Amino acid sequence: MATIRVDKWLTTAGYGTRSEAKKLCRAGRVRLNGEAVKDAARHADPDVDVLEVDGEPVSYEPLVYFMMYKPPGYVSSTEDPRDPVVVSLLDDEDSWRDVFPVGRLDKDAEGLLLLTNDGALAHRLLAPKRHVPKRYLVRVRGALGEADVEAIAKGVVLDDGYQAMPAELEILRSGAESEAIIQVYEGKYHQVKRMFASLGKRVTFLKRLSMGPLSLDPSLRPGEYRRLTQDEIEALM
Ligand code: URA
Repeated sequence: MATIRVDKWLTTAGYGTRSEAKKLCRAGRVRLNGEAVKDAARHADPDVDVLEVDGEPVSYEPLVYFMMYKPPGYVSSTEDPRDPVVVSLLDDEDSWRDVFPVGRLDKDAEGLLLLTNDGALAHRLLAPKRHVPKRYLVRVRGALGEADVEAIAKGVVLDDGYQAMPAELEILRSGAESEAIIQVYEGKYHQVKRMFASLGKRVTFLKRLSMGPLSLDPSLRPGEYRRLTQDEIEALM
């Protein structure tokens, strides 16, 4: 890794603003490879150098990746004037890294939501041309049948005239309220709800089960999250 300024390293690791990091250096509390660093502009290489504050090693992990079980009732954004936002579910030590959700789940929807501060990765995953598959468990009012499976497979036309891409519908249960799994390859606004609306069906429950290579960790309960493993991060790249 290229070298970075000591104050950048400290702020990335959560030691406050650049000026606070400078103060820590001036106070003699910061050591680089065992030697006090008074000048916060000094360069260091996080791959080989050891930085410490008050004797505690400072890690350098500029990019973070979390998998969250988004609960219903939360907005997939970093700020909202009315409703609670998903980033408010992060622990204090994780929330300072400018993490944002990768794409959106509706406020009433739940399930897998990725959060990261890696803008390039988010951009790639959301790029319409990539057609990253997303699977959802849905419940809808009314019965589902073979005609619905075929219509979804051909590609339905949404309320604004948009021709949705072919998708896959697997019916789990059909009745007064039906349950199904749908896999889609695009992410238009209210995509799944509008696809079912075009079949005359109202979605009453929507849970994202997977996105690209990642499936919702079954050990996560609504509102919980965990870091992605290195293998999971690599699978997304
Ligand atoms: N489709 C929807 O309608 N809503 C979501 O939140 C995700 C996909």
